[in-house]
Amino acid sequence: MEMLVPLANLDFGEEESQAVLEVLNRRWLTMGAVTQEFEMQFAEMADVKHALAVSNGTAALHLACLVLGIGPGDEVILPSLTFVATANAVLYTGAEVRFADIIGPQELNISPESILKQITPRTKALIVMHYGGYPCRIPEIIEIADRYNLAVIEDAAHAPGARLEGRALGTWGDVGCFSFFSNKNLVTGEGGMLVTQRDDLAERARLLRSHGMTSLTWDRHKGHAYSYDVVELGYNYRIDEMRSALGLVQLSKLDKNNERRKTITQNYWGAFQGSRLGLPFRDLAAKSINSGSYHIFPVLLPEGVRRKAFMDTLRLAGIQTSIHYPPIHQFSYHRQLVSGVTLPQTERVAEREVTLPLYSSMSDSQVDLVLGAVIGTLE
Ligand SMILES: *Cc1c(COP(=O)(O)O)cnc(C)c1O
Repeated sequence: MEMLVPLANLDFGEEESQAVLEVLNRRWLTMGAVTQEFEMQFAEMADVKHALAVSNGTAALHLACLVLGIGPGDEVILPSLTFVATANAVLYTGAEVRFADIIGPQELNISPESILKQITPRTKALIVMHYGGYPCRIPEIIEIADRYNLAVIEDAAHAPGARLEGRALGTWGDVGCFSFFSNKNLVTGEGGMLVTQRDDLAERARLLRSHGMTSLTWDRHKGHAYSYDVVELGYNYRIDEMRSALGLVQLSKLDKNNERRKTITQNYWGAFQGSRLGLPFRDLAAKSINSGSYHIFPVLLPEGVRRKAFMDTLRLAGIQTSIHYPPIHQFSYHRQLVSGVTLPQTERVAEREVTLPLYSSMSDSQVDLVLGAVIGTLE
């Protein structure tokens, strides 16, 4: 069924097509000059020393875990209310995951108090995820990490361009990870970025991204290198020039597009004021001075409204919705790894959450359509 209002949509125009065509015409497709430019401009946007483009956000998270030395015998604390990749990146290394709860229905981000309860002598790192691009309590979490000598990884997949106290999300911890998947704020299809201020981590991530090899095909092509050694067991987590070209164009639109997402979000909040919907982050966003990325628009259904029926009604009206997220600790695979864990706030919110359409190319009439349908459905 063709949706009148999809959950997410691309903002691709002639510029994106042109940029990819130029790459094709230049006939160098694998990581090279365009990727270097994308990395440089992304680093500038986030005001961070190193940015490494990779094949997807999950690869960035996996590399983050590897360069921080996370492995068998270690534990990593992370939220359960996130995409499954946040946890899987840890599991790939042989380390164990420990889930912390979220703060509550107003703030769907990881709770510092809950983190403290999960720390053991084996804890090596914390992973936070800035839900919807709304900053988690990262200053407080960094204090905890410093106190217990833990590394901090930020899953900033929702948060390109978002800032807290003027500092880009993804650049507060040791390593930040972004995703450029099709439904994200900056889209390359598949794609991701790892950012860090630390030279040692960047150098190791660069090696592991490309088979642990000491030089790239591009460097040898340019005559910068003649042969190579392999110094670690690495991966092929490289991006390519077509995607980097898309990334450059999308990056140039990021601030404007995030601003449009903010306007739509504020329209939603205004229209749903006085409805029975729970509106996570609304009160916080009003107070804080951060520039957000407004990646998704979550609402919490009132008691007594059946979620499936609500979503079906909207679907029949041509409006696509989703759930962010089925909690990881309840998946068949992950449940057996962390048996007996209960996360009361996460579970309560996850049962009632519905994500409404939000994307920068959404028209005002599409927003009105969603508003009317949602309010009508709740009556
Ligand atoms: C999209 C996403 C990822 C994974 O990114 P991919 O590029 O799809 O691998 C990880 N974490 C969160 C929170 C995401 O939304």
